[in-house]
Amino acid sequence: MSSLRWQPQACPTIMLPMPTTDATAPFVDLPAESFRALGHEAIDLITQFFADINEVAPFPARTPADVRALFDLRLPTAGEDPHTILADWSTKILPNSSVLGSPRWFGFVNGSGNQIGAIADALASALNANLGGWKASPAATEIERRTIAWLSEMIGYAPDAGGLFLSGGTMANMAALRTALRSKATWDLAAEGLQASGARRMTIYMADHETHVSFQGAVDFLGLGQQALRKVPSNADFTIDVAALEAMLDADIAAGMTPFCIVGHGGSINVGAFDDFDALADVAARRNLWFHVDGACGALGAILPELAAHFRGMDRADSVSFDAHKWLGTPYEAACLLVRNPDSLQQAFVTHATYLLSSTPSEYTGFNYFDYGPQLSRGWRALKVWMSLRQYGVDGYQAIFRRTIACAKHLHALVVASDEFEVVQPEPELYIYSFRYAPAALRHDDAALDLLNQRIADEITTRQVAFVMTTRIRGRVTQRLSICSHRTRIKDIDETFEAMRGIGEELR
Ligand SMILES: *Cc1c(COP(=O)(O)O)cnc(C)c1O
Repeated sequence: MSSLRWQPQACPTIMLPMPTTDATAPFVDLPAESFRALGHEAIDLITQFFADINEVAPFPARTPADVRALFDLRLPTAGEDPHTILADWSTKILPNSSVLGSPRWFGFVNGSGNQIGAIADALASALNANLGGWKASPAATEIERRTIAWLSEMIGYAPDAGGLFLSGGTMANMAALRTALRSKATWDLAAEGLQASGARRMTIYMADHETHVSFQGAVDFLGLGQQALRKVPSNADFTIDVAALEAMLDADIAAGMTPFCIVGHGGSINVGAFDDFDALADVAARRNLWFHVDGACGALGAILPELAAHFRGMDRADSVSFDAHKWLGTPYEAACLLVRNPDSLQQAFVTHATYLLSSTPSEYTGFNYFDYGPQLSRGWRALKVWMSLRQYGVDGYQAIFRRTIACAKHLHALVVASDEFEVVQPEPELYIYSFRYAPAALRHDDAALDLLNQRIADEITTRQVAFVMTTRIRGRVTQRLSICSHRTRIKDIDETFEAMRGIGEELR
């Protein structure tokens, strides 16, 4: 694959009005013709980026020191011509960027970024909407509320659910846990926090194998402490063992803990596993616990009828989180938190500041997102989701999701058919798939295979064939591909798999 190559067209220098201190004069933005020329230059850069995206190397393979040196610039004192600034895009920025939108970017669980989302972000920036309060963003607020309602309807969640966009699944999980904690604490948690004299040891439950790191961060951030995260044994298929969960809850209560939340996986991070939501909802209902579904990578799969069995009971969850910047393909950042009872969000986040309300209620009093989430000032994340949903429709997203799943299933078939690779998980039903390079001659030597698998992932990445990372499944290093890009073709899977095989043979 080639490196990102686009060179800018020669562009006439524009005479720029520089700011002056004369506050009696109007501030001069760029004249419309100049701004248009600059904008066209930028859109040309973006257009070329998308034109090349299927063929470019996903990872630049430059060292941090090399990249740092390029940007080791002095603080600008005098202003610069915007064309000069834009020129850095082609010469310095793109050639040293990872291309998450590449059909061969299989790292983390990264979304591929769609075109209309890029345009939406530009428009949102131009308006400079602040989605904190309604008065600062009337249309934008209503678009966010409508988009939240659409997403809730799409995945078959509560029709009158509330929710909001947050930066990512990590923040969405954190906000969900805070809402759960507020809702289940028996003392005045808002006033006294976890330091109240009657405070109990509040605990959260989720499957041990696939626990996402965001929950470790969340319990830490909320001051609960990492021990509050109680890891329940998993079944052979990586789902939570519900009988073990019940036993753990009983034992913990007997030991003086106060369970308040169960988290179910809606597509887990290494193998795309789905917990049994109905069973978890039953346990939560019987014991008056909050039930949260972390569907960061998979909850949107509920739009596929063929996956319906996995989503039975998700509508009973108190909250569901998922990332629009993953499978939905919107540019970063956009995660969504849905809460069945929007009042509980308000209870967890309401603000009381006179300078935020500053007027008696009137016909212009609207929905203020600052009362429903952790942010006061908020960017307009909803616009790119709203536009993406309108451009593709549910039908289009079904097609996109199915093609990514088809790629994961194809990869599984290649692994099954090969003597040199080993299956480590059930056939994938989502776009995430883990497997292991394990030729027969080395199968007795796990330590050697761990090393070899890591080297294969490193080599395929630095040789710029594809971006691949490893994980550990049941303690052993495995390849892990997140095939989240709507641009990935079967040919990308075939060529990546063949390259892995070849590199494995070469290295062992
Ligand atoms: C990606 C992911 C998260 C975290 O989401 P970010 O958007 O990266 O913050 C949480 N849980 C799961 C299962 C994920 O796949």
